[in-house]
Amino acid sequence: MHELGIVMNVLEQVDAVAAENKAEKVLKITMEVGEVSSVVPDLFLDAFNWAKKKTAFLQEAELEMIIIEGRTYCKTCGESYQTTAYGKKCPHCGSYETYLLTGDQVIIKDIAAVFGEAETPEPVPEK
Ligand SMILES: [Zn+2]
Repeated sequence: MHELGIVMNVLEQVDAVAAENKAEKVLKITMEVGEVSSVVPDLFLDAFNWAKKKTAFLQEAELEMIIIEGRTYCKTCGESYQTTAYGKKCPHCGSYETYLLTGDQVIIKDIAAVFGEAETPEPVPEK
């Protein structure tokens, strides 16, 4: 399960960022995971929930994954198409002269953390 290696790497980075910024704890990590990246979201989440217990700041953190659609561009006809549906062969013209535009990323997009004493702000009444 190579997801675990990626998760450990992400958690180490976030743990370091949390320590640097003197965070009390990390509540949530938002990640962009490409549809055609090497990561299987279910396995990634399992690995995350297991590995977070070993961190200093992420014991209670939750993981949100934004799945980015794989898009492939065709050099022959200039069209782009959904990678998972057609692979390397352009559905518009049948060419194999194609390359991946997006969808193979695994990126930390956002980190939500609590700083200092856990002050719960009074809810502001909406007017
Ligand atoms: Zn084409």
